[in-house]
Amino acid sequence: MAKAIVNEQAEESLDLTASTQVIIKEALDHLGYPDEVFQLLKEPMRRLTVRIPVRMDDGSIKIFTGYRIQHSDAVGPTKGGVRFHPEVTAEEVDALSMWMSLKSGIPDIPYGGGKGGIVCDPREMSFRELEGLSRGYVRAISQIVGPTKDIPAPDVFTNSQIMAWMMDEYSRISEFDSPGFITGKPIVLGGSHGRETATAKGVTICVEEAAKKKGISLQSARVIVQGFGNAGSYLAKFMHDEGASVVGISDAYGAIYDPDGLDIDYLLEKRDSYGTVTNLFNHTITNEELLVSDCDIIVPAAIANQLTKNNANDIKASIVVEAANGPTTLEATKIMSERGILIVPDVLASSGGVTASYFEWVQNNQGYYWSEEEVAKKLRNVLVNSFEKVYNASQTHQVHMRLAAYIVGVRRMAEAARFRGWV
Ligand code: GLU
Repeated sequence: MAKAIVNEQAEESLDLTASTQVIIKEALDHLGYPDEVFQLLKEPMRRLTVRIPVRMDDGSIKIFTGYRIQHSDAVGPTKGGVRFHPEVTAEEVDALSMWMSLKSGIPDIPYGGGKGGIVCDPREMSFRELEGLSRGYVRAISQIVGPTKDIPAPDVFTNSQIMAWMMDEYSRISEFDSPGFITGKPIVLGGSHGRETATAKGVTICVEEAAKKKGISLQSARVIVQGFGNAGSYLAKFMHDEGASVVGISDAYGAIYDPDGLDIDYLLEKRDSYGTVTNLFNHTITNEELLVSDCDIIVPAAIANQLTKNNANDIKASIVVEAANGPTTLEATKIMSERGILIVPDVLASSGGVTASYFEWVQNNQGYYWSEEEVAKKLRNVLVNSFEKVYNASQTHQVHMRLAAYIVGVRRMAEAARFRGWV
């Protein structure tokens, strides 16, 4: 198990897997499951580490490290994205795979969780090098993935082009056209309408539902979005379209804040494909300053461990909706919940992506494609239902929404494992 990473100032554990285990255990205890179930679910069932040689544009060969990790296939094939990032670690992918199990469990989608990652910096790689890396990764993991085994998808710094290369490589290896091998593909290769914006749509629906519970009108709400990648940028647009005022956003290099609202259309037009926009401004603030700035709603849509014991008491928002994976520590969850802040956890708020991926996979399997309106309607139904299920569980069990989401999400995995006779 990963050594606990400790934020020294606060002496707070930032180990994502360890905190996930704490809540899984609490959720199983609430449901009355014995310890064997926790022993089964507390870490991934399968981990594969691969080394991928790629010929770079300068003629040299570079070897990249990649992972594919599968948490549980009790319910069905495993499913989850692949991230390309210089700081990817096996420990991070472990936690991400566990969260995918919950993201599928809450909306009752017939998947278990999986996740992949490659240690690389796509911002410094050419199109051709990225293609080589994507194809090499699929060759390296091909034995444990497949349309009925484990279905990858986009994640941080991966996109529909990368999915297309991966699908093509898998189709060559398997010798049949396999659109259902991966989701998040371009529409012309069996992608689904609405998949690209689905994570942000799902987050938007959670923001709407949370605002209703808190009696806040979105038209007069001030929103901060941390991160301007796929989820953050579409979300800022959807919030802006709903009449909310987006007062702050950030990228990997800094943040901008304007109490009168930012010009979102301008930012969307100017952002690069990695979501960089702060380079357009003379006056920027830090990400830390952004998070404690004045607002009604915060959507962390960047990286993990952003809301911690250090800033939980200074957060001004009354609603936090987590578009990123793991942005809030357990300590911060407790502090903010006690302060009356409604936290919509990542495993619920960002489940729109895998929900639309499921729709894509179903369409691939049946070879019959749905209209944009049909996908949007189905996505809304699933998200509203998921939110209600988790909100009701939080009321019934008198717990915060994160624990409630785990209670809802873990139940099906435990049941499936029991019926299979595993525990
Ligand atoms: N990478 C996304 C997530 O973390 C989507 C996964 C999928 O579509 O399978 O939820």
